[in-house]
Amino acid sequence: MKIRLTRSNQPRPSTNSSELGFGRYFADHMFLMDFSSEKGWHDARIVPYGSLGLEPANLTLHYGQSIFEGLKAYRWADGSVKLFRPHDHAERFVRSARRLCMPEFDPEFIVDSWKALVHIDRDWVPSQPGTSLYLRPTVIAADNMLGVRPAAHYLMNVITSPVGSYYSRGASPTRILVENQYTRASAGGLGEAKTAANYAASLLAAERAKKLGFDQVLWLDAKEHRYVEEVGTMNIFFVIDGVLVTPPLGGTILDGITRRTVLQLAKEWGIPHEERRLTIDEIVEASHRGTLEEVFGSGTAATISPVGELNYNDEAITITEKEGSLRKRFFDAIIGICYGTQPDNHGWIEPVEDSALDVLEEELVDGAGFLNRSGHGEPFRAFDVP
Ligand code: PMP
Repeated sequence: MKIRLTRSNQPRPSTNSSELGFGRYFADHMFLMDFSSEKGWHDARIVPYGSLGLEPANLTLHYGQSIFEGLKAYRWADGSVKLFRPHDHAERFVRSARRLCMPEFDPEFIVDSWKALVHIDRDWVPSQPGTSLYLRPTVIAADNMLGVRPAAHYLMNVITSPVGSYYSRGASPTRILVENQYTRASAGGLGEAKTAANYAASLLAAERAKKLGFDQVLWLDAKEHRYVEEVGTMNIFFVIDGVLVTPPLGGTILDGITRRTVLQLAKEWGIPHEERRLTIDEIVEASHRGTLEEVFGSGTAATISPVGELNYNDEAITITEKEGSLRKRFFDAIIGICYGTQPDNHGWIEPVEDSALDVLEEELVDGAGFLNRSGHGEPFRAFDVP
């Protein structure tokens, strides 16, 4: 399938990197593609960023049949722009679609469309250390009628947002409240899909935690409230007595791409590591025994973020990062690969300036530019970003 390109005739200046924050500014163009049961996926196009003009009867607004992804494009020192593990993100996007009863799409074409969009808005990829262009693909139901059932029409949309450095605040140790009342996802539920409902389910607990001065919550399993699952928008890792431990993928947590990357590096570096269920009591005990060496979260937003405190039933477990921490080692390795200062031996990095651009078909008509929007969001916190 070709992607029709309609350029914005009012391109806006890209934002000054020092004040980017997260998800507050959006680049000039967006990608759209429609699905109908008669035509399948069709009419792939890159057009000026603008309103989707939804009707109030749009199914997504009522029943939440929607999915999304989140990945980043990085500017290298030589000016080129690269994506990190886009195929893994595209495949997860397809798995989310399947879970939400949406029609599947070709991950290969999806990656091409991401590359084409980033290429068109490449001037929006910031170059200051730690900055990147965040891609936010979504699929929503596009039927305008009421009734709980899978839609017959869908809209795929991708927007991109230049995002700031996590060096300033994101890498500072976070305070996490262990949530023992609310739960995020249960076995057989939606937990492993990247769908709006999971984030809606997290809001109340996260707000309560914030009021108490915490950055985010650590979810426990929905059945026994004992087993550790994941942090708000990150997978969680512990180093206990020299062993790297993370909860297994059991359907209730997201199969994080950064989590996979950490596990792969741990394997190659010969670091003892386990994917196994672990209880919050085990962590409290390890802390009392002095064997809880590290706690960190992994996610696209801040890569690897240290946890400075876990608060469980009013007991504060504090973790102080030491010189030579595993967290720092993972962080440096992954950041090095993303920005091209370390070799990529895994094929994780993909350039945007490649044959994907063959899919573009430029239209002669200029699109209407969309007014600049300044963000009103809260300052960027690594743990807030899905
Ligand atoms: N868990 C949840 C719930 C998330 O939203 C995210 C962010 N996508 C992650 C984990 C980390 O996933 P990734 O490493 O793919 O960004």
